[in-house]
Amino acid sequence: MKKRQHQALQIALDGPAGAGKSTVAKIVANRLQLFYVDTGAMYRAIAYKALKKGASMDDEATVSQIAKRTEVVLDHSEARRIWCDGEDVTQEIRCPEVSRAVPVVAAYPKIRERLVELQRMEAKRGGVVMDGRDIGTHVLPEADLKIFLTATPEERAKRRWIELKKAGKDISFQEVAQDMIQRDRVDTEREVSPLKPAKDAIILDTTGLSVEELVAKILVLAEEVIKDDTI
Ligand code: C5P
Repeated sequence: MKKRQHQALQIALDGPAGAGKSTVAKIVANRLQLFYVDTGAMYRAIAYKALKKGASMDDEATVSQIAKRTEVVLDHSEARRIWCDGEDVTQEIRCPEVSRAVPVVAAYPKIRERLVELQRMEAKRGGVVMDGRDIGTHVLPEADLKIFLTATPEERAKRRWIELKKAGKDISFQEVAQDMIQRDRVDTEREVSPLKPAKDAIILDTTGLSVEELVAKILVLAEEVIKDDTI
């Protein structure tokens, strides 16, 4: 395993779907030689498993039981796969069915408790860029840098639609936009750790910014933190 450059640096990246979190998080993690933890993938893996088992997403007790027995493993090699009970689900968890089911599953307290524990364990490996919805507010409240990414709903839906098209999914822009609005609503309105910026988060609007421009902005902010000798 690569030696990590900044042993204890923690960058929390939160925001709604399609704001560009995972794309920039991966690049920033590579540039700074930090671990990248995609917490959304963990919730997606649980939703995938529950769907595969034929559970009704509204059945909190059953879905929570399934989650309890499901092993979710993030692979930190260059390939960055996600494993669910020994099955490589990297591609499968990105499908529209999982995207629709995941906010329901992610609102269940027992599931959040379990995954947050896993996420905090991941952060103990060393410096980390972690993306999600509640990283700055709940998972890593002491993170050195908290960033909340936003973009207009149109731009976010367009990015996600292009991503799905590239992956060969036959889905209309309208459908992607509607799913995204619904998912953001559930994520924002849920009782446990809703999607919102931490009080000390820097809010960056990514509308109209290229990936490189956004990465550059985040690297400048990270370098300011790194300059501090305490890291
Ligand atoms: O990041 P991604 O879009 O893959 O996340 C999928 C879903 O997982 C989100 O819409 C949300 O319901 C849930 N999630 C969450 N908390 C996180 C990360 C993701 O509730 N930290």
